Amino acid sequence: MDDIKTGGLPTAVVSIEHAAGYAFGCKRCQKIHFTGTWVVGLTVGEHKFLVGKNPPVQCCGEEKQFLEVFDAESEADTLRDTIAKHLAERGSTEGLVLYAFAIVNATGTQAVN
Ligand SMILES: [Zn+2]
Repeated sequence: MDDIKTGGLPTAVVSIEHAAGYAFGCKRCQKIHFTGTWVVGLTVGEHKFLVGKNPPVQCCGEEKQFLEVFDAESEADTLRDTIAKHLAERGSTEGLVLYAFAIVNATGTQAVN
């Protein structure tokens, strides 16, 4: 993904709750790696992202696109604040692990890849 320059663009970082919960697992070995109800989303101009595990997780020899996911809103808010600070300081998404918003199934409880 190209790094998005935030200079001049409106940016927003928010904690997002999904009441049914997320479970991020590996399709190949069926292992569920992370579960929770809160993720962190980011809007830069017209681009929407969700914050991924940094560094990315490896499973079955592949890099998996798992999101950072939390059980508690306060934990998500801590990451949200860290991301907001990063954007403010660098004026860019460079150095962040971000995935396009669409990877999370809007109705399901799993994002398996
Ligand atoms: Zn696996």
